[in-house]
Amino acid sequence: MKTLALAAAALLAMQNGAKPEDTEVWTPEVPVVTPGPHAPVPPPSDAIVLFDGRDLSQWATVKDGSPARWTVADGVVTVAKGTGNIQTRRSFGSYQLHLEWRIPAGITGEGQARGNSGLFLASLGKGDEGYELQILDSYRNRTYANGQVGSIYKQFSPLANPSRKPGEWQSYDILWTAPTFDASGTLTRPAAVTVLMNGVVVQDHTVLKGPTLYIGQPKYTPHGRAPIKLQDHGDPSAPISFRNIWLRELS
Ligand code: MG
Repeated sequence: MKTLALAAAALLAMQNGAKPEDTEVWTPEVPVVTPGPHAPVPPPSDAIVLFDGRDLSQWATVKDGSPARWTVADGVVTVAKGTGNIQTRRSFGSYQLHLEWRIPAGITGEGQARGNSGLFLASLGKGDEGYELQILDSYRNRTYANGQVGSIYKQFSPLANPSRKPGEWQSYDILWTAPTFDASGTLTRPAAVTVLMNGVVVQDHTVLKGPTLYIGQPKYTPHGRAPIKLQDHGDPSAPISFRNIWLRELS
């Protein structure tokens, strides 16, 4: 239903003359920062471990709720292209999240078609609905600033571009403050997020305009606790991998 509603909204936006390009921001360019060396960050004692390197028991295929079918090998999970987005079986409010990812060495493609995935901080539907923190190969790969890695997609460019080369592990450390709504569905507190990428701040208590939209202007719709979702984008470049995914709930 949600997907259909969003598709209908996108169609309406296009009929109104809105285009994807309308919400791309190309300047100013995001400054490149060379991060320090990567070190894996295993979960602290009170974390909810979402992926421990062994199995995807915490994850389901979003479109039908079946077990996630991405590939697990050598302590790493890799997108199995075409199997669809996956999301956590549990739902969350506000949290601290750690996640590591790797763009494959030798990746091809350019712009948004180069290592595109994404972390939906709260999943709001069976497609790409939710609040997307972009994952992309932005190492010497220019795209619109509010669509490169570290962006809140189509809303906020990152403060810096601390991308490592393809083939190297990278990390996100995220503080997510979920939005709140009153009984009538009116927004009482917008969502906010702080993100460190490879130890460098890329979002500093950024207050979101609403869930991510590819076309048009975002606006909030009421929701409660929600799963966290990873994107199987469908771009033709090689699939990306993840490891050390854990979360601490914040009340
Ligand atoms: Mg994406």
